Amino acid sequence: MEIINRRQRLASLTRKIRRENKTIGFVPTMGALHQGHLSLVQEARQMSDVVIVSIFVNPTQFNEGSDFKKYPRDLTADAATLSDYQVDYIFAPDENEIYGENFSTYVYVENLTETLEGAARPGHFRGVATVVTILFNTIRPDFAFFGQKDAQQVAVIERLTKDLGFDTEIIVAPTVREDSGLAMSSRNARLTDEEKAAAPIIYRALKEVRSAFNRGERSAAALHDILEKTIESEPLAKIDYIAVVDNTTLEPLERIGENRALVAAAVRFGDVRLIDNIVLDPKQ
Ligand code: AMP
Repeated sequence: MEIINRRQRLASLTRKIRRENKTIGFVPTMGALHQGHLSLVQEARQMSDVVIVSIFVNPTQFNEGSDFKKYPRDLTADAATLSDYQVDYIFAPDENEIYGENFSTYVYVENLTETLEGAARPGHFRGVATVVTILFNTIRPDFAFFGQKDAQQVAVIERLTKDLGFDTEIIVAPTVREDSGLAMSSRNARLTDEEKAAAPIIYRALKEVRSAFNRGERSAAALHDILEKTIESEPLAKIDYIAVVDNTTLEPLERIGENRALVAAAVRFGDVRLIDNIVLDPKQ
């Protein structure tokens, strides 16, 4: 395993790998790795000849400077973890390596980026789309791996990949959860014991919604109501948003028809904001 800091070096290395007709699997991360990230790495290892993981806390996707500064960083620990997972290369650039002097070109994905997480975090998806474009351009991966936990991010990246014509297949891996059902996240470490005991209510509520859907409920308002009431039964939970939307366009739904629906929630416990979601598939 090699740690690469320079974009130029990564570009020439991946050019060579392609010339050898080897496939490249790419897993973008911000580090502070947990089982959620590692499940993506495992999938990449199975599908590709060469696995590249990027670790870059991307400043442009944070709308609060303090959040960016507080983000946990431990490259040594992350590299040790990744070496157990047969990763070939870690790309860990400095900020200047990605955003050089006079950087002025951003990627903005219309329609998908102003709702849900985009409404709560203005500019977030512009930052995500921009850094992913730069990384895809540099690496030109055959496969890129993203977690279902960040469902809107998946919708944005799939759109961007099609629109900009990247020859990269987007692979979406299921959300990895603690035994309690709580979706794994680097933010979980900031929960108090009490909050951590309360936070699994999000997934319990999403499962209630799935049960109702499986019993035949197709009204978005009814499903929304079940989600809201169940989460509100936990006094420590403060709902930021909950939504029942089309899984591809992210447009609000009145009824779940032929297409898959995304049921998403963002909930605060103290000053920690957690997100989670499920997809309801009428064809299953
Ligand atoms: P991040 O480091 O937070 O930018 O996340 C890097 C990638 O890991 C993204 O594609 C996330 O969706 C994915 N990810 C984060 N948490 C989980 C999880 N609990 N299960 C599956 N994927 C995850």
